[in-house]
Amino acid sequence: MTLEEIIALDKKYYLNTFGDRLPVCFTRGEGMKLWDLDGKVYYDFLAGIAVNALGHSHPALVNAIVEQAQKFIHCSNYYYIESQAKLAQLIVENSCCDKVFFANSGAEANEGAIKLARLYYRKKGFPEKFEIITLEKSFHGRTLATLAATGQEKYQKNYCPLTPKFLSVPMNDIAALERAITEYTCAVMLEPIQGESGVNPANVDYIKQVRKLCDEKGILLIFDEVQCGLGRTGKMFAYEHFGVEPDIFTLAKALGGGFPIGALCAKEPVASAFEPGDHGSTFGGNPLACSAGYAALSTIINDRLYENSAVMGDYFIGQLNSLTEKYGIIKEVRGKGLMIGVELFQPKAVEVKLKCLESGYLIGSVGDNIIRMLPPLIVSKEDIDGFIGALDNIFEKL
Ligand SMILES: *Cc1c(COP(=O)(O)O)cnc(C)c1O
Repeated sequence: MTLEEIIALDKKYYLNTFGDRLPVCFTRGEGMKLWDLDGKVYYDFLAGIAVNALGHSHPALVNAIVEQAQKFIHCSNYYYIESQAKLAQLIVENSCCDKVFFANSGAEANEGAIKLARLYYRKKGFPEKFEIITLEKSFHGRTLATLAATGQEKYQKNYCPLTPKFLSVPMNDIAALERAITEYTCAVMLEPIQGESGVNPANVDYIKQVRKLCDEKGILLIFDEVQCGLGRTGKMFAYEHFGVEPDIFTLAKALGGGFPIGALCAKEPVASAFEPGDHGSTFGGNPLACSAGYAALSTIINDRLYENSAVMGDYFIGQLNSLTEKYGIIKEVRGKGLMIGVELFQPKAVEVKLKCLESGYLIGSVGDNIIRMLPPLIVSKEDIDGFIGALDNIFEKL
């Protein structure tokens, strides 16, 4: 089919939740590259929004999916599943958690985290502790509960009344958090580095104080590491940057390297609040998803891709900072590892994104002023140099 035919089909049959998409359709990918219908090559600096951590068509991931699909794709959680048990072990042995539950997406993993926090206190004899405090500018998903947790009105406003008992406070303001805590609070839920609002890292001191406050007040701390986890920020988990451990954290995006899977990860004794019948999923933890997850995560660990993320991230941010000095266009370069946001003085983020597309580079934009780069963790110095060269040309003409 031609691009025009595909667009016509989409407009006719697909719900218009994505509006006018970027006018391109990809047919295959390899490593950093994607090819469109005309054979034009693009370097993927968005990675499906932090999903394709290994780049495209990584042989370890492709082989794991093919091999599992040839054996069998799905069975119910009524039975034991080898790849599910092995992936859970891999996560536990490489993180601070003791137990794992698999879902199909980030929002679903967060739903599980919210349920677990409430259930934990209910089973401890505090059924009134059901309130969850989140941060302004956060993003936790599109289901009704995770929308309520999301501290951004633009996602929420048309779906009121929202699931009750969530409130959000400004980030890096410990006094505001302290004021918001009541006897009803069961958890604080936050992204240590916010993604969807344009890459906003929390302060180290703030996160340490949040941990301390939660301990003092008997409140659980939940980290949403759906975007910032799994090597994205230059460490395996973003919490490692802050010298604290959450009681619960959630993963998704990069976990399957492109195959949908999410994870709810919890420490004991919190994890044990979930007992038989308390939570479940038909597809969550299925053999195919967990085989993909095992291949993706073991590649991130064995190839030390989190280290490449740290080294390449520093280089990338350094190169962006030299563009800051060269042109008066950039207000701020933010981020850690390969989770990078560039705030422009002028509302030209969409224009820059489109120019990048023309030049064969895929990036994201957040609002009018921020461009966002989330390349695969395998990105090389040459790839970054190529992108910086393209951006340099684009800025020169702006
Ligand atoms: C993407 C994202 C989610 C939602 O994940 P889905 O798989 O789209 O449901 C939740 N939290 C954060 C921090 C995210 O970046």
